[in-house]
Amino acid sequence: MIQVTSPFLPPKEEYLKYIDKIYHKKWLTNMGPLSSELELKLKDYLGVEHLLFLNNGTLALQISIKALKLEGEIITTPFSFIATTTSIMWENCQPVFADIDPETLNINPEKIEEAITSKTTGILATHVFGNPCDISAIEKIAQKHNLKVIYDAAHCFGVNYKEKSVLEYGDISTVSFHATKLFHTVEGGAVISKSPELIYRLSKLRNFGFKTSESFDGIGINGKNSEFHAAMGLCNLKYADEIIAKRKVQCGIYKRLLSNKGVAFQKINDASDYNYSYFPVIFESEEILLKVKKELENNWIYARRYFFPSLSDLEYIVKQGTPVSDNISKRILCLPLYHELEKEEIELICRIIIRYIKY
Ligand SMILES: *Cc1c(COP(=O)(O)O)cnc(C)c1O
Repeated sequence: MIQVTSPFLPPKEEYLKYIDKIYHKKWLTNMGPLSSELELKLKDYLGVEHLLFLNNGTLALQISIKALKLEGEIITTPFSFIATTTSIMWENCQPVFADIDPETLNINPEKIEEAITSKTTGILATHVFGNPCDISAIEKIAQKHNLKVIYDAAHCFGVNYKEKSVLEYGDISTVSFHATKLFHTVEGGAVISKSPELIYRLSKLRNFGFKTSESFDGIGINGKNSEFHAAMGLCNLKYADEIIAKRKVQCGIYKRLLSNKGVAFQKINDASDYNYSYFPVIFESEEILLKVKKELENNWIYARRYFFPSLSDLEYIVKQGTPVSDNISKRILCLPLYHELEKEEIELICRIIIRYIKY
């Protein structure tokens, strides 16, 4: 059986060494030594100035919206994971969708500009599958209209844009370290910002609003992560380069075998150092996608319709006319991609796809 993804696990002995340390110290959570060590090592690895380790990527989005005091309307993409939209609603703001570009699959800056009203306070854009958005266009719009920018960079571990980390752009970037992501801490996430003031505010939001151990500054939540999760991160970080290099090879094989065979690929931003976090293919029609997916399943191979449905189709969302996202989400399939996936398995997957596209 070939699943769409399979989590990377470090050698058990390496993890157990950290677990021994935790047993010895008896410091299990609340910004412990391993969490602090992971934050330092992540800042160094990713090349970012400030980063806070959190319990997941969804909470990272929520406290970012809180920290920036956004209200009213937030312009966002309908082509993302559901948490991008629901975190806006959870924070009592209204998501307003701007349609995507059919090639990069990222939010279309022209559509952002069209969606701005007097109630707009921010933009929440996803770097889809780790492919950086048109950052300079979004920056210009934000400046012109005095809007805050949050990037949902859940897929962007290790991605650089114009020679620096993509996570350094916008007011805040959020990442996810969920088990299905390229780098994971089982459950986990982080917020990144260039602004020390924002990071200070986010750090209070992460910890119930505690200012000192006996005083509070505003309402916070529990966004902390544990030492056991940090330990998994410290182990996995040592393999991050190897994981990305392997994925580059795997995606290269997919691309070579599927080029000019009736599927389209996502167009990756030229200024980006990509991380190969997913391998999406876009079929000519939903009918072909369904046929191929079924045939893969007959061979115990599980690809995933991702992102599907388009978030504009959610029952609690007012219809807003995003034809590109509606259309692409019906035709896109993420093919299996994980560290242990073998060349022969990729070749098998491609053979099945090519054979069934024709019928
Ligand atoms: C995974 C993901 C999230 C949520 O992260 P969790 O850590 O699972 O809460 C948010 N946005 C995108 C685009 C994601 O892929």
